[in-house]
Amino acid sequence: MSKIITLLCVVLMSISTPIFAKTVKIGMVIDDLRLERWQKDRDIFVAKAEQLGAKVYVQSANGNEQTQISQIENMISRGVDVLVIIPTNGEVLSNVIKEAKIDGIEILSYDRLINNADIDFYLSFDNEKVGEMQAKSMLASKPSGRYFLMGGSPTDNNAKLFRQGQMNILQPKIDSGDIKVVGDQWVNAWLAENALKIMENALTANNNDIDVVVASNDSTAGGAIQALEAQGLAGKVFISGQDADLAAVRRIIAGTQTMTVYKPIVALAQRAAEIAVTLGNGDTPKQNAKLNNGMKDVPAWLLEPIAVDVTNIKETIVADGFHSKEELYSK
Ligand code: BGC
Repeated sequence: MSKIITLLCVVLMSISTPIFAKTVKIGMVIDDLRLERWQKDRDIFVAKAEQLGAKVYVQSANGNEQTQISQIENMISRGVDVLVIIPTNGEVLSNVIKEAKIDGIEILSYDRLINNADIDFYLSFDNEKVGEMQAKSMLASKPSGRYFLMGGSPTDNNAKLFRQGQMNILQPKIDSGDIKVVGDQWVNAWLAENALKIMENALTANNNDIDVVVASNDSTAGGAIQALEAQGLAGKVFISGQDADLAAVRRIIAGTQTMTVYKPIVALAQRAAEIAVTLGNGDTPKQNAKLNNGMKDVPAWLLEPIAVDVTNIKETIVADGFHSKEELYSK
């Protein structure tokens, strides 16, 4: 009898799981889990990858590029099949990726492009468009005046793409003299505390005479708004953002931040999990774009960002369940 049961179990198991299905091992190395955005990316990615039968190891470099390199080395020694990397510095990973490739590991560059390295796939949003959306919203709010440009982390390739997009829109207005750029700074590690200091200094240098802050994301916008608040200027100065962080959307509702760019992270992180598992199984993921990273044309998939201001929060962020109405509107 027990033999029959054992036999039955073996037959059932082989129907539900192909006998030779391998568990894809994924190493996810994240720049900085201190920022709200990346916690969401991690949670959604891990859930989806596990649902697809993969095993995921996660590490965060807390914004330190050396730490990130060691973490990648550590993942290589663990024998992962795929590395999903959100680079702290997209310029310094060429060597460690060379090591990973020797071991046959597939590399997915997640959200930020890794330059001059043999990566297999890049998944992100259309980042130049993000910058264009930020600048368009600022121009619509204040077609002429004194603009302060607050770029993101100088080591993040995305920060450059956001700036490129912003300039696509602003440059003609700068050339015509409608807009005067009264300052231009980049915020190390995208941290709010660094943005706060930069904004305090910019306000002092300009006698508080600033109409617009083109901030590249919500954490830096948050720091800048703290400096504006201290001068009684919050809500009077137009300011952009990105990520639809909870605090930022609440600021939009309160009137101290003008807009954010919502990037549906669920779509990004779930697709990333699918791509990682596809790569891990030796297959080729679908692509809708190609980006040159200095070494090669990298197959890519780019998703569409969405500009959000006080008029469309409900039909975007709330409708997607990214934040609930209660979280956003409760005092
Ligand atoms: C991401 C943004 C994020 C920023 C700071 C960028 O690479 O695209 O969504 O706000 O990094 O983490």
